[in-house]
Amino acid sequence: MSQKIAIIAGAGPAGLTAAYELLKRTDIHPIVCESTDSIGGIAQTYNYKGNRIDIGGHRFFSKSDRIMKWWFNILPRQGSPAADTVEKGHEIEYAAEAIVEYLCPACAKAPVGKPECSTAPTRRPAPNPELEDDVMLQRPRVSRIFYRKNFFPYPIGITLTVAKRLGFFNTAMIGLSYIWRHAFSLKDETYLDAFYKNRFGDRLYRTFFEAYTEKVWGVPCSQIRADWGAQRVKGLSLKRAVIHAVKDLLSSDFKKQQEKRETSLITRFFYPKFGPGQMWEKVTEQIKACGADVRMHTRVSGVHMKDGKVTSVTLENTATGETQEVVCDYFFSTMPIKHLFGMMHPRPDSRVLEVAEGLQYRDFLTVGLLLKKLHVQEKGKLPQTDVPDNWIYIQEGGVRVGRVQIFNNWSPYMVSDRKNTIWIGLEYFVNEGGDLWVMEDKKLIELGIAEMEKIAMIRREDVLDGCVLRMPKAYPAYIGSYTQLPVVREYVEKIPNLFLIGRNGMHRYNNQDHSMLTAMFAVDNIVSGRTDKSNLWEVNLDDDYHEEKKA
Ligand SMILES: Cc1cc2nc3c(=O)[nH]c(=O)nc-3n(C[C@H](O)[C@H](O)[C@H](O)COP(=O)(O)OP(=O)(O)OC[C@H]3O[C@@H](n4cnc5c(N)ncnc54)[C@H](O)[C@@H]3O)c2cc1C
Repeated sequence: MSQKIAIIAGAGPAGLTAAYELLKRTDIHPIVCESTDSIGGIAQTYNYKGNRIDIGGHRFFSKSDRIMKWWFNILPRQGSPAADTVEKGHEIEYAAEAIVEYLCPACAKAPVGKPECSTAPTRRPAPNPELEDDVMLQRPRVSRIFYRKNFFPYPIGITLTVAKRLGFFNTAMIGLSYIWRHAFSLKDETYLDAFYKNRFGDRLYRTFFEAYTEKVWGVPCSQIRADWGAQRVKGLSLKRAVIHAVKDLLSSDFKKQQEKRETSLITRFFYPKFGPGQMWEKVTEQIKACGADVRMHTRVSGVHMKDGKVTSVTLENTATGETQEVVCDYFFSTMPIKHLFGMMHPRPDSRVLEVAEGLQYRDFLTVGLLLKKLHVQEKGKLPQTDVPDNWIYIQEGGVRVGRVQIFNNWSPYMVSDRKNTIWIGLEYFVNEGGDLWVMEDKKLIELGIAEMEKIAMIRREDVLDGCVLRMPKAYPAYIGSYTQLPVVREYVEKIPNLFLIGRNGMHRYNNQDHSMLTAMFAVDNIVSGRTDKSNLWEVNLDDDYHEEKKA
């Protein structure tokens, strides 16, 4: 009997995990097709002249032990300090040893592995990031909000420092507005504005939530369904913040409690030495060594069905335009639902097409700036040439930049000359085809510099170089036909060998771990013979948003 074939659309975390799991646990031959020339999808890392940049910094942590173990199997945890650990005073929990289970005998021949032909777990001392590249770092997480030339904690909490920075009158008004809203709460919480107002009061909502959320989605909060906000601020409310503040006030050591509260937001996360792309490049190396076919510049452009099953797909070489029809037994899709349903033959019924077509997305653009140093002018302080944050939310009005990533603080190895340069990413939430999307790179870099100068974070004379990265469909939006997504799900449920997995593949605000779990569960189902796919759709249904999860 000939070997079964699975075609996987997309070499992002979900597609590559599906290929890995198929190789490890089945006899099915995976063919991964990636339309671009990059591995890792949204979780790729771009190398610009030796300085590496993510599409938004990607923290690695998950509630799922299966995921954590999987990651550490590919990139083991660090066993000794990184280049900046001592100088920055980071506290790291070092691993003593690395236990690595190889995917196949060929993987055991990887540079750091002993060349024995075995897939059994091998133990060795945990890697030293100063000497080895295949290593997962543990990093402290610091992120704050920059607003009116002041830093505020993220997520926002009420402490004496916060009250001082907001002004005591303003803080009192925030309190009153909360009490008012508590007494007269909005009954309908379908949309984000009502959801936030009920939890934080109207004034705090307007100060810290409204502008930023609208920057992210490009539409008013009154049009965004509350699901997104519910994930982000689960477990948070002004009531809780005030209870903490009062507890601090009553505490015998008020100052210590306040400091503790402010640093309680500093947690840790894992991050590959060279960014998230390193994880996915490493996985690609391994699956290729074990027989998977990974085809770059290859777009899935047609999906053909017969007797209720996918029988073949059309692959298009994006460089030459040549097409080829490849027969398959399984098809995994991580591509946007909107694209998939438009390329299915025979065409799904009009209701399904209408829902798929009506899904909306938000696109993402990053301006990378290489600087001699930062020049952060906080109110009442001397300019700072460095800050500890991994990323900073820009709440200031009058600029379009939404967030700033500081890659030196993600990993010292992301920056080619980390001692003399600061490598930052300015993030813009945009629409494909919109004014920023079509703007020339040179002008975007100029805009980025001007905006950063305006909010007093950098000086023009410190800029050494810049680049621009565009990522279409970075965010599946919870607007448009999103609420009718079950129509699509019901349709797919009837096609046993079609698996929608990942972030855009399922149109869900999934992080890497969620995206990977959907791929793992799809393979679990194939292995166990399970035909219903409800377990895939249950991933990330009722999960706390990562911001609140401690690594
Ligand atoms: C700003 C930002 C920050 C984030 N931060 C984090 C974080 O801190 N931690 C975390 O875990 N996650 C984070 N995420 C989420 C993470 O990026 C995604 O969960 C993950 O990349 C989704 O993986 P995926 O494989 O489903 O999809 P994608 O990464 O979107 O990959 C899909 C791939 O399919 C390809 N493709 C599309 N159509 C076709 C086609 N027709 N044929 C062939 N190939 C096709 C695409 O080119 C792409 O490479 C973040 C996302 C964003 C936007």
